[in-house]
Amino acid sequence: MALVNEHFLKIPNNYLFADVAKKVNVFKATHPKAEVISMGVGDVTQPLAPAVVEAIHKAADEMSTQSGFHGYGPEQGYDFLREAILKHEFLSRGIHLEKDEIFVNDGAKSDTGNIQELIRWDNSVGVTDPIYPVYIDSNAMIGRAGIKDENGRWSNVIYMPCIAENKFIPQIPDRRVDVIYLCYPNNPTGMVLSREELRKWVNYALHNDALIFFDAAYEAYIQDEDIPHSIYEIKGARKCAIEFHSYSKTAGFTGVRCGYTVVPKEVTASTLDGEAIQLNALWNRRQCTKFNGASYISQRAAEATYSAEGRKQVKATIDYYMRNARQILTVLKSLGLECYGGENAPYIWVKTPSETDSWTFFRQMLYGAHVVCTPGVGFGPSGEGYVRFTAFGSREHTEEALQRIKDWLK
Ligand SMILES: *Cc1c(COP(=O)(O)O)cnc(C)c1O
Repeated sequence: MALVNEHFLKIPNNYLFADVAKKVNVFKATHPKAEVISMGVGDVTQPLAPAVVEAIHKAADEMSTQSGFHGYGPEQGYDFLREAILKHEFLSRGIHLEKDEIFVNDGAKSDTGNIQELIRWDNSVGVTDPIYPVYIDSNAMIGRAGIKDENGRWSNVIYMPCIAENKFIPQIPDRRVDVIYLCYPNNPTGMVLSREELRKWVNYALHNDALIFFDAAYEAYIQDEDIPHSIYEIKGARKCAIEFHSYSKTAGFTGVRCGYTVVPKEVTASTLDGEAIQLNALWNRRQCTKFNGASYISQRAAEATYSAEGRKQVKATIDYYMRNARQILTVLKSLGLECYGGENAPYIWVKTPSETDSWTFFRQMLYGAHVVCTPGVGFGPSGEGYVRFTAFGSREHTEEALQRIKDWLK
């Protein structure tokens, strides 16, 4: 008899965005004339940069010839992309990494979910709350999260609340954590960590033999000079941190699929006997077994984001989204709403007025303004009483949505 992995049965079936879609569909069915604008889903809307499209065409043409055909590539990614990453993402910030510390992938979601395979089932896991759900769910699927209580909290997960009261800065927990997930700039709060705050985490990890999994998917949105783009800007981080990057939000690759993971050779985890094991070698072994590489075409597309033209074009799109973000902040603040984030990230985290719960506010705005946001509680218990707005819409939709919210709240 085949026995199922029962850990899957403990994970709630309700997917936040499916729930949102269901409620929006009910509204649309009963209000067929209403035009709903979404400021909810975290997907980009603007087309790929021309330099990227040109690279995709060129790669496709190459593939149509005998000499330019590419079959399976290296599991770790092509050298042309890994070298471009080293040069443009790290050397330019004074970070020296080696090519075989970069693992190209099909996007950051896969690797932020897969990375937990490298650690034993009984490590304790610390997460900021609210949080991108992948980190907890991927640990729950193999039983590392423990048992879920009636409030949906897992017994072996340490939640570090990020709320207005602590300025959304996670505090070092009083319980030991072996593995810490950090995502900065943050999805969903849109907040960032200063160099000093990030240094606290690196020092904690170094002094406690803990690991940090650092999700940098939104680093390209950072505007302030002083905010670190990579955890490796902090001294000692290459001994304790694995970092995830993605072209999805940086360059509109959500449908193209490409990203990369950095696993420095100095990062180790311990055996029960106290022997330090290099995670770079383990991750390489894991990738060679379970992953056959990102497509040649996606990798050429990613490479094109680093050409002079590509960089300019990609930045223009980010500027476009960040103009939306500024406008959302300005309008919502002028309406008396308490707003966070949106300055170094495409997300604006808004406290609902008069202690309204997240889903009630979501519903009120959907019915009152025909605008969709994401209920904050869907990202974790500390998200209750907040909603998330995204700046990923078109200018026209963003302006129209803001006008409707103004009319609705006045
Ligand atoms: C969108 C996003 C990613 C990137 O996912 P891809 O698989 O690269 O598209 C990673 N982490 C967070 C927090 C995200 O919001």
